[in-house]
Amino acid sequence: RAKSGGRGRAERFDDQYAAEASARLRLDAELRHALANDELICVYHPEIDLATGGLYALEALVRWQHPSRGMLSPDDFVPHAETVGLIGILFEQVLDQVLTAQDKWLDEFGWRPTVAVNVSPRQLTNARLVQVVLTALEAHDAPASALILEVTETALVDDSVMTGTLAELRRHGVAVAVDDFGTGYSSVSRLADRHWDALKIDRSFVAGINEDVAREGVVHAMIALAHALHLRAIAEGVEDEPTLTKLRELGCDAAQGYLFTRPVDAAEISKMIIRCPEWNAAPVITAA
Ligand code: C2E
Ligand code: MG
Ligand code: MG
Ligand code: MG
Repeated sequence: RAKSGGRGRAERFDDQYAAEASARLRLDAELRHALANDELICVYHPEIDLATGGLYALEALVRWQHPSRGMLSPDDFVPHAETVGLIGILFEQVLDQVLTAQDKWLDEFGWRPTVAVNVSPRQLTNARLVQVVLTALEAHDAPASALILEVTETALVDDSVMTGTLAELRRHGVAVAVDDFGTGYSSVSRLADRHWDALKIDRSFVAGINEDVAREGVVHAMIALAHALHLRAIAEGVEDEPTLTKLRELGCDAAQGYLFTRPVDAAEISKMIIRCPEWNAAPVITAA
């Protein structure tokens, strides 16, 4: 009995393993098809400058218009793209869509809203990344200041190749933000090594700051740390007015969240810029 029970478990394990493997294979084939057939699209999530009420930047967030499963969120396919080596192609498609959308905004409004693009940690170990970014900018006749690259904090391990890539991008004028700040393991010395322009405080810290003094204190300290290191502090996931008011009080530089809008497509951003006079202004570049 024990023997057959053991074999049953093993078979169940084999079945489950086979099912997962075949699901992965299907995802793989479908994702390759999606990349070849323009099924990936970008939506844009505004980040609002809390001092002026203007647009600080737009974050590009990738979506997959899947032919049968509907709109898929990045969590459903970005990790897979990373594992199977498709993240570079995905990034190039996102970058091209972003710069094309900016070309249109430039036509409409006479300026390019800055767009933040997410890069996966492992792309930073690819020496080609810098050339990919510079070539895309050149193809659209866009300045490096049109882009911000966001790197999740979990990725900020001490790696000289990664650091070199970031340093080179910044030498060319592309800003770099630490994404999901607070959820990773970066040391203060790593944050202080001057490869960054902004810290994006993760949504999990921002929720509830107006109701809980401990939470407020943590976010206050994060903003203070950012400023001590001469970095901008940007809050993610702002869903209500009291949270926004508190962030303003704490001196946070910019905020993003459903309070302002959900992520929307490029055409919708145009309408918002038309509706919202304080958004229709190129950011004033201040000397550091
Ligand atoms: P992220 O870079 O931290 O992006 C912010 C995420 O928080 C977005 O989810 C955004 O819609 C969500 N968010 C912002 N404000 C609020 C809010 O007030 N309430 C709630 N509930 N959510 C809010 P999304 O679009 O699902 O993206 C998830 C993650 O997928 C991103 O997190 C990013 O790490 C990754 N991602 C998205 N696009 C790309 C891409 O093109 N390349 C790579 N490598 N990763 C991407
Ligand atoms: Mg991001
Ligand atoms: Mg983030
Ligand atoms: Mg986040």
